[in-house]
Amino acid sequence: MRIKENHKLKGDMLEFGDWNNHQSEMMTWIVESKPSEVRVWLKGPLNEDFAYAELAEELQKCRHCFLRLNLKQVLRVNSTGIREWFNLMQTLSWPSLLILEDCSPAFTQALTQIEEMSLGCWVESCNLPVWCPSCEQEFELKIELTTPLLNQTIQIPCPDCSQQCRPDIEGIVQIVRQQASRHED
Ligand SMILES: [Zn+2]
Repeated sequence: MRIKENHKLKGDMLEFGDWNNHQSEMMTWIVESKPSEVRVWLKGPLNEDFAYAELAEELQKCRHCFLRLNLKQVLRVNSTGIREWFNLMQTLSWPSLLILEDCSPAFTQALTQIEEMSLGCWVESCNLPVWCPSCEQEFELKIELTTPLLNQTIQIPCPDCSQQCRPDIEGIVQIVRQQASRHED
């Protein structure tokens, strides 16, 4: 699993999320190990400082389990971080199911733009930014990536003014399609 030759990634740095805040932070994680599954809570920016090899080593002990990566607190992603992500995926070569859950808007945006990022994984749920056209508030909505999403119009009332808002689900619908077609193979 490598980043394909892609000029978007080779030239200009790709960035997702708000890079103006917390720039000195590093990615940290908590590993929660149960007999049936291992869940890793990742927190911090996905950038060149992501110590993927340390995480992979910690996870070697629990290879037989389902692995869930919770990505809600990965608020910023850049292209060098994506390279480290591919390194992690390659190092893990997880034999069982690898699930990505609760993906942050920044991680979701990266997933929808770089198809290879979700290869070998099952994307379970994503958080999308929703913008209210009436009061111009932005809020987040968590969406489960299940097949009914393909034929659905999603509407949610704004928490501030109750105006019905529609998140842009085009990118995650594409992921649902890809997952469904891989599942059929
Ligand atoms: Zn509103």
